[in-house]
Amino acid sequence: MMKPSDLLIPTPAGLYCPLADIHIDPVRPVARALITHGHSDHARAGHGAVLATSETLAIMALRYGEAFTGSRQVAAPGETTRIGEVDFRFVPAGHVLGSAQIVVEHKGLRIVVSGDYKRERDPTCAPFEPVICDVFITEATFGLPVFRHPPASAETAKLLDSVRLFPERTHIVGAYSLGKAQRLMALIREAGYERPLFIHGAVEKITELYQAEGIPLGDVRKIEPGDRKAEGRKAFAGEIVICPPSAIQDLWSRRFPDPVTAFASGWMRIRARARQKGVELPLIISDHADWDDLQATIREVQAGEIWITHGEAEALAHWCGTVGLKGMPLHLVGYGDEGEAEPEGKPAEASA
Ligand SMILES: [Zn+2]
Ligand SMILES: [Zn+2]
Repeated sequence: MMKPSDLLIPTPAGLYCPLADIHIDPVRPVARALITHGHSDHARAGHGAVLATSETLAIMALRYGEAFTGSRQVAAPGETTRIGEVDFRFVPAGHVLGSAQIVVEHKGLRIVVSGDYKRERDPTCAPFEPVICDVFITEATFGLPVFRHPPASAETAKLLDSVRLFPERTHIVGAYSLGKAQRLMALIREAGYERPLFIHGAVEKITELYQAEGIPLGDVRKIEPGDRKAEGRKAFAGEIVICPPSAIQDLWSRRFPDPVTAFASGWMRIRARARQKGVELPLIISDHADWDDLQATIREVQAGEIWITHGEAEALAHWCGTVGLKGMPLHLVGYGDEGEAEPEGKPAEASA
Protein backbone atom coordinates (compact mmCIF):
# COMPACT_ATOMS: atom_id res chain seq x y z
CA MET A 1 0.00 0.00 0.00
CA MET A 2 1.06 3.55 -0.67
CA LYS A 3 2.49 5.63 2.15
CA PRO A 4 0.34 8.51 3.49
CA SER A 5 3.25 10.87 2.84
CA ASP A 6 3.06 9.98 -0.87
CA LEU A 7 -0.64 10.85 -1.04
CA LEU A 8 -0.38 14.19 0.79
CA ILE A 9 2.81 16.18 1.19
CA PRO A 10 3.25 19.19 3.47
CA THR A 11 4.81 21.96 1.34
CA PRO A 12 5.36 25.70 1.95
CA ALA A 13 2.20 26.40 -0.10
CA GLY A 14 0.15 23.95 1.98
CA LEU A 15 -0.79 20.26 1.77
CA TYR A 16 -0.14 18.98 -1.75
CA CYS A 17 -1.54 15.88 -3.44
CA PRO A 18 0.75 15.00 -6.37
CA LEU A 19 -1.56 12.31 -7.82
CA ALA A 20 -4.29 14.92 -8.31
CA ASP A 21 -2.04 17.97 -8.60
CA ILE A 22 -4.09 19.94 -6.07
CA HIS A 23 -3.36 21.82 -2.85
CA ILE A 24 -5.64 21.93 0.17
CA ASP A 25 -6.06 25.39 1.81
CA PRO A 26 -2.96 26.74 0.06
CA VAL A 27 -1.43 29.86 1.59
CA ARG A 28 -0.13 31.07 -1.76
CA PRO A 29 -1.68 31.09 -5.25
CA VAL A 30 -1.76 27.63 -6.91
CA ALA A 31 -3.29 26.10 -10.05
CA ARG A 32 -5.97 24.03 -8.26
CA ALA A 33 -7.10 24.51 -4.68
CA LEU A 34 -9.53 22.63 -2.45
CA ILE A 35 -10.70 24.90 0.36
CA THR A 36 -12.08 23.72 3.71
CA HIS A 37 -13.75 27.00 4.81
CA GLY A 38 -13.94 30.74 4.30
CA HIS A 39 -11.60 32.09 7.01
CA SER A 40 -8.90 34.13 5.34
CA ASP A 41 -5.98 31.98 6.50
CA HIS A 42 -7.49 28.99 4.65
CA ALA A 43 -9.35 30.66 1.79
CA ARG A 44 -7.15 32.99 -0.22
CA ALA A 45 -7.71 34.72 -3.52
CA GLY A 46 -5.75 34.17 -6.74
CA HIS A 47 -5.94 30.41 -7.41
CA GLY A 48 -6.50 29.06 -10.93
CA ALA A 49 -9.42 26.89 -9.84
CA VAL A 50 -11.22 26.33 -6.54
CA LEU A 51 -13.29 23.38 -5.36
CA ALA A 52 -15.26 24.14 -2.17
CA THR A 53 -18.77 23.99 -0.72
CA SER A 54 -21.27 26.46 -2.20
CA GLU A 55 -21.26 28.47 1.05
CA THR A 56 -17.47 28.74 1.13
CA LEU A 57 -17.45 29.86 -2.53
CA ALA A 58 -20.08 32.50 -1.68
CA ILE A 59 -18.02 33.74 1.28
CA MET A 60 -14.89 34.00 -0.88
CA ALA A 61 -16.78 35.89 -3.59
CA LEU A 62 -18.17 38.26 -0.98
CA ARG A 63 -14.78 39.02 0.53
CA TYR A 64 -12.52 39.02 -2.53
CA GLY A 65 -14.93 39.83 -5.35
CA GLU A 66 -16.32 37.51 -8.03
CA ALA A 67 -12.89 37.28 -9.72
CA PHE A 68 -11.31 35.59 -6.67
CA THR A 69 -10.44 32.53 -8.77
CA GLY A 70 -10.12 31.56 -12.43
CA SER A 71 -12.83 28.94 -12.18
CA ARG A 72 -14.88 27.42 -9.40
CA GLN A 73 -16.63 24.16 -8.74
CA VAL A 74 -19.14 23.33 -6.02
CA ALA A 75 -18.40 20.38 -3.76
CA ALA A 76 -21.78 19.04 -2.69
CA PRO A 77 -21.71 17.62 0.86
CA GLY A 78 -20.97 13.89 0.88
CA GLU A 79 -20.48 13.71 -2.90
CA THR A 80 -17.23 12.28 -4.24
CA THR A 81 -15.17 14.21 -6.80
CA ARG A 82 -12.43 12.30 -8.60
CA ILE A 83 -9.38 14.28 -9.61
CA GLY A 84 -6.61 12.35 -11.33
CA GLU A 85 -6.61 9.02 -9.50
CA VAL A 86 -7.78 10.40 -6.18
CA ASP A 87 -11.25 10.69 -4.64
CA PHE A 88 -12.16 13.77 -2.62
CA ARG A 89 -15.23 14.15 -0.43
CA PHE A 90 -16.37 17.17 1.60
CA VAL A 91 -17.90 16.37 5.00
CA PRO A 92 -19.19 18.96 7.54
CA ALA A 93 -16.66 20.26 10.09
CA GLY A 94 -19.00 22.23 12.38
CA HIS A 95 -16.67 25.25 12.41
CA VAL A 96 -18.49 28.03 10.45
CA LEU A 97 -21.11 28.15 7.68
CA GLY A 98 -20.02 25.88 4.82
CA SER A 99 -16.97 24.52 6.66
CA ALA A 100 -15.88 21.06 5.59
CA GLN A 101 -13.36 18.35 6.25
CA ILE A 102 -11.84 16.95 3.08
CA VAL A 103 -11.62 13.18 2.84
CA VAL A 104 -8.79 12.13 0.51
CA GLU A 105 -8.88 8.53 -0.68
CA HIS A 106 -6.69 6.47 -2.98
CA LYS A 107 -6.46 2.68 -3.27
CA GLY A 108 -7.77 1.98 0.20
CA LEU A 109 -5.74 4.67 1.97
CA ARG A 110 -7.90 7.36 3.56
CA ILE A 111 -6.66 10.68 4.93
CA VAL A 112 -9.01 13.22 6.49
CA VAL A 113 -8.00 16.89 6.38
CA SER A 114 -10.26 18.38 9.02
CA GLY A 115 -9.43 22.06 8.49
CA ASP A 116 -10.68 23.92 11.57
CA TYR A 117 -13.46 22.19 13.50
CA LYS A 118 -15.45 22.00 16.69
CA ARG A 119 -17.75 19.47 18.29
CA GLU A 120 -20.07 21.74 20.23
CA ARG A 121 -23.49 22.29 18.69
CA ASP A 122 -23.71 25.41 16.55
CA PRO A 123 -27.09 26.61 15.24
CA THR A 124 -25.41 28.29 12.25
CA CYS A 125 -23.70 25.33 10.59
CA ALA A 126 -23.91 21.58 9.99
CA PRO A 127 -22.36 19.45 12.78
CA PHE A 128 -18.94 17.78 12.50
CA GLU A 129 -19.17 14.26 11.13
CA PRO A 130 -16.42 11.89 12.26
CA VAL A 131 -14.96 9.83 9.41
CA ILE A 132 -12.94 6.72 10.23
CA CYS A 133 -9.55 7.07 8.56
CA ASP A 134 -5.91 5.99 8.44
CA VAL A 135 -4.48 9.46 8.93
CA PHE A 136 -6.31 12.32 10.62
CA ILE A 137 -4.99 15.82 10.00
CA THR A 138 -6.02 18.18 12.76
CA GLU A 139 -5.48 21.69 14.02
CA ALA A 140 -4.52 22.21 17.67
CA THR A 141 -5.42 25.86 18.32
CA PHE A 142 -6.56 24.98 21.84
CA GLY A 143 -4.42 21.88 22.26
CA LEU A 144 -3.46 22.41 25.90
CA PRO A 145 -5.17 21.04 29.03
CA VAL A 146 -5.96 24.60 30.21
CA PHE A 147 -8.38 25.02 27.31
CA ARG A 148 -11.72 23.54 28.24
CA HIS A 149 -14.62 25.49 26.81
CA PRO A 150 -17.76 25.79 28.97
CA PRO A 151 -21.13 25.42 27.19
CA ALA A 152 -21.69 28.40 24.88
CA SER A 153 -25.25 28.74 26.21
CA ALA A 154 -23.88 29.40 29.72
CA GLU A 155 -21.52 32.08 28.42
CA THR A 156 -24.39 33.68 26.47
CA ALA A 157 -26.43 33.72 29.68
CA LYS A 158 -23.60 35.69 31.34
CA LEU A 159 -23.92 38.34 28.66
CA LEU A 160 -27.69 38.58 29.00
CA ASP A 161 -27.45 38.71 32.82
CA SER A 162 -25.09 41.65 32.50
CA VAL A 163 -27.45 43.41 30.08
CA ARG A 164 -30.25 43.04 32.64
CA LEU A 165 -28.00 44.21 35.46
CA PHE A 166 -26.79 47.33 33.63
CA PRO A 167 -29.75 48.55 31.56
CA GLU A 168 -28.17 51.99 31.09
CA ARG A 169 -24.94 50.70 29.56
CA THR A 170 -24.19 49.49 26.03
CA HIS A 171 -22.72 45.99 25.79
CA ILE A 172 -20.09 45.95 23.06
CA VAL A 173 -19.14 42.40 22.15
CA GLY A 174 -16.05 41.67 20.06
CA ALA A 175 -16.57 38.64 17.81
CA TYR A 176 -14.85 37.58 14.57
CA SER A 177 -16.81 38.80 11.59
CA LEU A 178 -17.11 35.38 9.91
CA GLY A 179 -18.78 32.75 12.05
CA LYS A 180 -18.43 33.89 15.65
CA ALA A 181 -20.55 37.03 15.28
CA GLN A 182 -23.42 35.13 13.65
CA ARG A 183 -23.19 32.20 16.07
CA LEU A 184 -23.33 34.63 18.97
CA MET A 185 -26.45 36.26 17.50
CA ALA A 186 -28.08 32.85 17.06
CA LEU A 187 -27.18 31.90 20.66
CA ILE A 188 -28.63 35.16 21.95
CA ARG A 189 -31.86 34.42 20.07
CA GLU A 190 -31.98 30.87 21.42
CA ALA A 191 -31.75 32.34 24.91
CA GLY A 192 -34.97 34.24 24.21
CA TYR A 193 -33.59 37.76 23.70
CA GLU A 194 -35.80 39.54 21.18
CA ARG A 195 -34.58 43.14 21.06
CA PRO A 196 -32.76 44.32 17.93
CA LEU A 197 -29.05 43.39 17.76
CA PHE A 198 -26.76 46.11 16.46
CA ILE A 199 -23.73 45.35 14.31
CA HIS A 200 -20.61 47.14 13.14
CA GLY A 201 -20.42 47.64 9.36
CA ALA A 202 -17.59 45.09 9.08
CA VAL A 203 -19.95 42.34 10.21
CA GLU A 204 -22.82 43.29 7.94
CA LYS A 205 -22.16 41.50 4.64
CA ILE A 206 -21.35 38.12 6.15
CA THR A 207 -24.36 38.41 8.43
CA GLU A 208 -26.58 39.05 5.42
CA LEU A 209 -25.09 36.02 3.71
CA TYR A 210 -25.91 33.85 6.74
CA GLN A 211 -29.48 35.18 6.73
CA ALA A 212 -29.76 34.56 2.98
CA GLU A 213 -28.64 30.96 3.65
CA GLY A 214 -31.66 30.59 5.91
CA ILE A 215 -30.10 31.11 9.35
CA PRO A 216 -32.55 33.07 11.50
CA LEU A 217 -30.83 35.86 13.45
CA GLY A 218 -33.86 38.05 14.16
CA ASP A 219 -33.83 41.83 13.92
CA VAL A 220 -30.25 42.82 13.10
CA ARG A 221 -29.41 46.47 12.43
CA LYS A 222 -26.26 48.04 11.13
CA ILE A 223 -24.97 51.06 13.01
CA GLU A 224 -24.61 53.94 10.58
CA PRO A 225 -21.70 56.38 10.92
CA GLY A 226 -24.10 59.26 11.65
CA ASP A 227 -26.04 57.46 14.38
CA ARG A 228 -24.24 59.20 17.20
CA LYS A 229 -25.08 62.68 15.95
CA ALA A 230 -28.58 61.77 14.97
CA GLU A 231 -29.66 60.12 18.18
CA GLY A 232 -27.15 61.20 20.79
CA ARG A 233 -25.10 59.00 23.08
CA LYS A 234 -28.11 57.61 24.84
CA ALA A 235 -29.24 55.88 21.65
CA PHE A 236 -27.60 52.54 22.38
CA ALA A 237 -28.08 52.47 26.15
CA GLY A 238 -29.06 48.96 27.20
CA GLU A 239 -28.45 47.49 23.74
CA ILE A 240 -26.10 44.77 22.50
CA VAL A 241 -23.63 45.81 19.81
CA ILE A 242 -21.51 43.22 18.00
CA CYS A 243 -18.28 44.33 16.35
CA PRO A 244 -14.95 42.86 15.18
CA PRO A 245 -12.48 42.40 18.09
CA SER A 246 -10.27 45.24 16.85
CA ALA A 247 -13.14 47.75 17.22
CA ILE A 248 -13.53 47.15 20.98
CA GLN A 249 -10.62 49.40 21.81
CA ASP A 250 -10.64 51.93 19.00
CA LEU A 251 -12.39 55.25 18.53
CA TRP A 252 -15.43 53.54 17.11
CA SER A 253 -16.47 52.22 20.53
CA ARG A 254 -16.33 55.65 22.18
CA ARG A 255 -19.69 56.64 20.78
CA PHE A 256 -21.46 54.38 23.26
CA PRO A 257 -22.50 55.41 26.75
CA ASP A 258 -20.41 53.84 29.53
CA PRO A 259 -19.89 50.61 27.57
CA VAL A 260 -19.36 47.15 28.98
CA THR A 261 -16.77 45.54 26.71
CA ALA A 262 -17.09 41.83 26.10
CA PHE A 263 -15.13 39.48 23.84
CA ALA A 264 -16.32 36.07 22.63
CA SER A 265 -13.29 33.82 22.14
CA GLY A 266 -11.71 30.60 23.37
CA TRP A 267 -8.77 32.76 24.48
CA MET A 268 -10.94 34.33 27.15
CA ARG A 269 -10.15 31.26 29.25
CA ILE A 270 -6.88 33.08 29.97
CA ARG A 271 -7.73 35.87 32.39
CA ALA A 272 -4.54 37.80 31.65
CA ARG A 273 -5.50 38.03 27.98
CA ALA A 274 -8.87 39.48 28.83
CA ARG A 275 -7.32 42.04 31.19
CA GLN A 276 -4.64 42.96 28.69
CA LYS A 277 -7.31 43.66 26.05
CA GLY A 278 -9.37 45.71 28.47
CA VAL A 279 -12.19 43.17 28.31
CA GLU A 280 -14.54 43.53 31.24
CA LEU A 281 -16.79 40.59 30.38
CA PRO A 282 -14.86 37.65 28.88
CA LEU A 283 -17.08 35.11 27.10
CA ILE A 284 -15.46 31.75 26.44
CA ILE A 285 -17.15 30.91 23.15
CA SER A 286 -14.97 29.15 20.62
CA ASP A 287 -15.36 27.75 17.11
CA HIS A 288 -12.43 25.38 17.69
CA ALA A 289 -12.32 22.05 19.50
CA ASP A 290 -11.01 22.30 23.06
CA TRP A 291 -8.48 19.92 24.61
CA ASP A 292 -11.10 17.28 25.49
CA ASP A 293 -12.78 17.44 22.09
CA LEU A 294 -9.47 17.18 20.21
CA GLN A 295 -8.76 13.97 22.11
CA ALA A 296 -12.30 12.62 21.76
CA THR A 297 -12.23 13.28 18.02
CA ILE A 298 -8.85 11.65 17.54
CA ARG A 299 -10.09 8.53 19.34
CA GLU A 300 -13.33 8.50 17.38
CA VAL A 301 -11.80 8.56 13.90
CA GLN A 302 -9.51 5.64 14.86
CA ALA A 303 -6.56 6.84 12.82
CA GLY A 304 -3.15 5.43 13.73
CA GLU A 305 -1.40 8.56 12.60
CA ILE A 306 -2.26 12.12 13.55
CA TRP A 307 -0.76 15.01 11.62
CA ILE A 308 -1.06 18.40 13.30
CA THR A 309 -1.20 21.52 11.15
CA HIS A 310 -1.10 24.48 13.53
CA GLY A 311 -1.62 25.60 17.10
CA GLU A 312 -0.25 23.61 20.05
CA ALA A 313 1.13 20.92 17.77
CA GLU A 314 3.89 19.65 20.08
CA ALA A 315 1.55 19.26 23.06
CA LEU A 316 -1.03 17.35 21.07
CA ALA A 317 1.62 15.19 19.39
CA HIS A 318 2.99 14.35 22.84
CA TRP A 319 -0.47 13.30 24.03
CA CYS A 320 -0.84 11.10 20.92
CA GLY A 321 2.34 9.30 21.95
CA THR A 322 0.98 8.61 25.43
CA VAL A 323 -2.02 6.75 23.96
CA GLY A 324 0.00 4.78 21.41
CA LEU A 325 -0.70 6.94 18.37
CA LYS A 326 1.84 8.48 16.05
CA GLY A 327 1.50 12.25 16.36
CA MET A 328 3.36 14.44 13.88
CA PRO A 329 3.53 18.25 13.93
CA LEU A 330 3.60 19.54 10.33
CA HIS A 331 4.75 23.06 11.17
CA LEU A 332 2.63 24.53 8.39
CA VAL A 333 3.11 28.27 8.22
CA GLY A 334 0.38 30.78 7.44
CA TYR A 335 -2.58 29.42 9.40
CA GLY A 336 -4.10 31.03 12.39
CA ASP A 337 -4.49 34.59 11.15
CA GLU A 338 -8.22 34.66 11.43
CA GLY A 339 -10.90 32.96 13.39
CA GLU A 340 -9.40 32.43 16.76
CA ALA A 341 -5.83 31.54 16.30
CA GLU A 342 -4.83 35.11 17.07
CA PRO A 343 -6.69 36.94 19.80
CA GLU A 344 -5.78 40.27 18.21
CA GLY A 345 -7.96 40.07 15.09
CA LYS A 346 -6.61 42.31 12.39
CA PRO A 347 -8.68 45.35 11.39
CA ALA A 348 -8.03 44.68 7.70
CA GLU A 349 -9.49 41.20 8.02
CA ALA A 350 -12.38 42.32 10.09
CA SER A 351 -13.49 44.75 7.45
CA ALA A 352 -13.03 42.25 4.61
ZN1 LIG B 1 -11.24 28.83 10.69
ZN1 LIG C 1 -7.66 28.32 10.81
